[in-house]
Amino acid sequence: MATATTTTFDLSPPTEEQLDELVADLSSEERHVLLEHGTEAPFCGVFLLEKRPGVFTCRLCGLPLFHGGTKFESGTGWPSFTQPFAEDHLKYIRDTSYGMLRTEIVCIRCGSHQGHVFPDGPPPTGQRYCINSVSLAFTPSGERLPDKLERGAPEGEVVEG
Ligand SMILES: [Zn+2]
Repeated sequence: MATATTTTFDLSPPTEEQLDELVADLSSEERHVLLEHGTEAPFCGVFLLEKRPGVFTCRLCGLPLFHGGTKFESGTGWPSFTQPFAEDHLKYIRDTSYGMLRTEIVCIRCGSHQGHVFPDGPPPTGQRYCINSVSLAFTPSGERLPDKLERGAPEGEVVEG
């Protein structure tokens, strides 16, 4: 199975100009989830049935966040993963909203809200990364990764495996 790897992706944040351009491209629901830390309604996400191998990327900046192969059926109604694409592609934030203690996950590069991680996932990691599908885009194996910030390879390269 796929393992989390450290990669050569350029993790420096987008410029303000790039960020404005990317945000202008979002729908109002995407804006709400990604920028205002909203949560989409369960069981309406577009990726619930996506089982092909490939890479899930940040909807806003295109950074790979999860491997298709680590997605599992959590029954929660949100896409769920057992591990990130790479540990350093996510930022973990303590979230005490709604009277709960949770760990929020945001994209390390653009800071957009992705979801939460819970310690009740299946083996091998025991982690459950519960992600809003509007926060993600999917690139199936054999197609090119997005390169929204024009950073060049490995972005814009064909996904293998
Ligand atoms: Zn991002």
